[in-house]
Amino acid sequence: MASEPNAVAETSTASTTAYGLFIDNRFRDAITGRTLGVVDPSDGSIFATIPRGDTDDIAVAVASARQAFDGAGTADGVWGRSTALERSRLLRKLADVVLAHVPELGALEARDTGKPLRQGIADATALARYFEFYAGAADKLHGQTLPYQQGYTVMTIREPHGVTGHIIPWNYPMQIFGRSVGAALAAGNACVVKPAEDACLSLLRIGEMAASCGFPPGALSIVTGLGTEAGAALASHPGIDHISFTGSPQTGEHVASMAARHHCPVTLELGGKSPQLVFDDADLDNALPVLVNAIIQNAGQTCSAGSRLLVQRAIAPMIQERLSEIFAGLRAAPAMQDADLGPLISRRQQQRVWDCLSEAQSTGVRVLAQGQIDPLAPAGGFYQVPVLLGEVPNGHRIEQEEIFGPVLALDIFDDESQAQRKANATPYGLVAGIWTRDGARQLRLARRLRAGQVFINNYGAGGGVELPFGGVGRSGYGREKGFEALYGFTALKTIAIRHD
Ligand code: NAD
Repeated sequence: MASEPNAVAETSTASTTAYGLFIDNRFRDAITGRTLGVVDPSDGSIFATIPRGDTDDIAVAVASARQAFDGAGTADGVWGRSTALERSRLLRKLADVVLAHVPELGALEARDTGKPLRQGIADATALARYFEFYAGAADKLHGQTLPYQQGYTVMTIREPHGVTGHIIPWNYPMQIFGRSVGAALAAGNACVVKPAEDACLSLLRIGEMAASCGFPPGALSIVTGLGTEAGAALASHPGIDHISFTGSPQTGEHVASMAARHHCPVTLELGGKSPQLVFDDADLDNALPVLVNAIIQNAGQTCSAGSRLLVQRAIAPMIQERLSEIFAGLRAAPAMQDADLGPLISRRQQQRVWDCLSEAQSTGVRVLAQGQIDPLAPAGGFYQVPVLLGEVPNGHRIEQEEIFGPVLALDIFDDESQAQRKANATPYGLVAGIWTRDGARQLRLARRLRAGQVFINNYGAGGGVELPFGGVGRSGYGREKGFEALYGFTALKTIAIRHD
C-alpha cells in the first residue's frame, strides 16, 4: 500500500471515476484487480481510481512493446519496421489532437496535480509542442560517412534502442512525458511508461489519443502503480533496452543500479538547487518578477526552480525590501482559482516542506516575508505559503537540499569569485541564472558555473522544448529536449565495407 503519496490507499470507492492502465491500445484493470485512490490536492478528496499495476502488468506491457518492435525477428514488428516519415506523421497528428484538447487536458492536469489552471494549460500546450518538434526531427536523424583506410567505406547509422522504459514524476507529467516519450517514439522505440502514482490521469488520456491517431498496439503502453512495484519492475525488466528516469536522486540511484544488472543504459534527470546570481548592475525591474516566478511556479515543485538567490551586498537591502513586498502579496488557492500558486501535491510533500522550514527557523534562519493562503481554500488541501528566508548561512541544509516547495533562500556575496564559489557549493548542477549587464562577466561565469543550463538576464525554469536539458553531479546525466535527446534514444552502429 502507498504509505505517503497522493494516490493513497487501495480503494474501491464507487462514486469515483475508474481509470485503466493502457496496454495494446486498450484500457484494462491490473491483473490483481487492485486499485489506488487519486487525491485532489486542492481539497484532499479522492476523485478517481487507477489500477495498481505491478510486475505482471509490466511483463505484459513489455511483451506487447517487444512484439510491436521485434515481431518475428529483430526490429521486424509493425513499429520496428516503421519509417521515419510514418512516425513523423503520426506524431504530428497526435500534436494536433492534443492541441484540440488543451482545455480538457489542462483542467485534468490542474485537478490531478493541484497546479493553477493556466499552468495545466501551458503544460498541455508544451506537450503538443514536443510532439511537433519531434515530428519535425524524426526524419532528420542520420549518421555519417567516415574517412578510413584505402579500400573501405565506413558509415554510422542511428538505430532505436528497441523498447524504452520511461519513469515519470508527478510535478509535470505531460511535459516530461512529451520530452521523453516524444523523442523516443520519433527515434523508433516502443515505449513503456510508468507515471507517478500521484498524478497520471493526463497521460492515460494521451495514450488513448495516440491510439486514435493510428499508433499501433504496443508502440506506447502506460502502466500505473507504485514506484516500488511497477516502477521497480520496469527498471529491472531484462526486456527493456533503455530507461529514462526523471525523479529524485535517491530513486534515480536505485533505478540505475537495477538497470545496470541487465546492462541497460539510463538517462537520469534528477533534482536541483539552482542559484540565481544578481549583481549590482542588474536590471532589477526585469529580474524581480522572473526571480519570483522561478520559485513559485508549480508551488516550487520544479526540478529547475531558482531556489537560491545570491545577491551582491550593495543591493541586498533593496532587493530584500522589494521581494518582501511581492511575497506578502502572493496567494495560494485551489487549482481552479488560478491564483499565484496552488497546493502542494500531497500531505507528504507538505510535511516535508514544513520540516525544512521548522529546522531552518530552529537554527536561526529568519522568515523575511511570506504570502498567504486564500481564507476560503478547503481545509483538506495541501497548501503552503510562499516563504522568503534569509540570510541563509553557508552550507546550511536549506542551501544544500532540494525542498521542492515555494521557499526562496537569500544569501549575499561580495564579488564575482565569491558568487561563483557559493553558486557551485552544492552537489547539484541543473540550472543557473546570472543577472548582470557586464558582457564579459556573463560569459566568464556562464562557463564557470556547474550546471546543464545557464540563463543570462532571464530564467527558463527548464527552458524551451528546443533546448537540451539535463544536469551534472547529483542532478543526473544524459540530456533530454531538443535534437540532443534523439541521440540518447538511439544507439550508434558503425558499418565498415571493404571493396578494394
Ligand atoms: P520520485 O523519485 O519519488 O518518483 C519519481 C518516479 O519514480 C515516480 O514515477 C515513482 O513512482 C517512481 N519510483 C519511486 N520509487 C521507485 C523505485 N523503487 N523504482 C522505480 N521507480 C520508482 O520523485 P518525485 O518525488 O515523484 O519527484 C520529485 C523529484 O523529481 C525531485 O527531486 C525533482 O527535482 C525531480 N525532478 C527532476 C526533473 C528533471 O528533469 N531533472 C524534473 C522533474 C522532477
